[in-house]
Amino acid sequence: MIVTAQKPLDEVLDFISPYSNILIAGCDGCTQPPRGLREAKTLSQLLELGGRLRNKNFNFKVVTAAKQCDSYLTASMLKPQIEGVDTVLSLACGIGVQTIAELFPELPVFPAQNTHFMGAEEREAGTLEERCSACGDCILAVSGGICPVTRCAKGLLNGACGGARNGKCEMDPAKDCAWELIFQRLEKQDKLDLLREFRPPRNYQLRAWRLTV
Ligand code: SF4
Ligand code: SF4
Repeated sequence: MIVTAQKPLDEVLDFISPYSNILIAGCDGCTQPPRGLREAKTLSQLLELGGRLRNKNFNFKVVTAAKQCDSYLTASMLKPQIEGVDTVLSLACGIGVQTIAELFPELPVFPAQNTHFMGAEEREAGTLEERCSACGDCILAVSGGICPVTRCAKGLLNGACGGARNGKCEMDPAKDCAWELIFQRLEKQDKLDLLREFRPPRNYQLRAWRLTV
C-alpha cells in the first residue's frame, strides 16, 4: 500500500482559494488510510467550512476513481465531470496527482495528501511501516525477504554496521536492526552462506525508470 497523510487544511485552502469550481477526486486504489469517495466528501465539507472563514464560497463536485494512477480509468471517471471545473484536488498519492495533471494539462491540479512511502500494516502495533523504496533492482531473494535498502537506516548492502544494541537500530532504537532480522531469517533457512557474498554498490539510475507495458 502507498501510505499518505492529509495535508494541513490551511495549505489546501491556500491552493484552491483562487478558484471557485473545484473537482475533488478520491482514489479507491492502494492508498492507506483509504482516500475514496467518503474521505473526498468529508474533505469537501471541511474545505467548505474553512472557505467560509476566509469569506470564500466554493462549489465542489466529488468523485472517485478506481485507481488514479490508471489514466484510462481516471479519464473515464473524470472527463464527464470536468466541464466548468476550475481546478482539481486529488486525494491520491503523488502518482495519481500526476496522472490527472497529464490528462488535463490546461487545469491546475493540487495534491490534498503528502505521499510518504510504500509500506505494510503492522496490525498489532497499529502502525504503517515502510517496506520498499522502489529501488528498481530487488535483492529480497538474497536478504531473506527483508529489505535492507529500506529498513536499514543506512541502506547497507553488506551486513550490519555493528552499532545495533539489543537488536535495535543505532539510528532509531524504536526500530529493529534490519540486518539482525536478515541474519535471523537466513539462519532459520540455513542460508547464512548468502551473507558471505559481496553485494556491489547499487545502480541508482534504476530508481527512475520507464517500462514498456
Ligand atoms: S530491494 Fe528494492 S525493490 Fe526490493 S524491497 Fe527493497 S527497495 Fe523494494
Ligand atoms: S543498526 Fe542495523 S539497521 Fe541500523 S544502521 Fe546499523 S545495520 Fe542498519
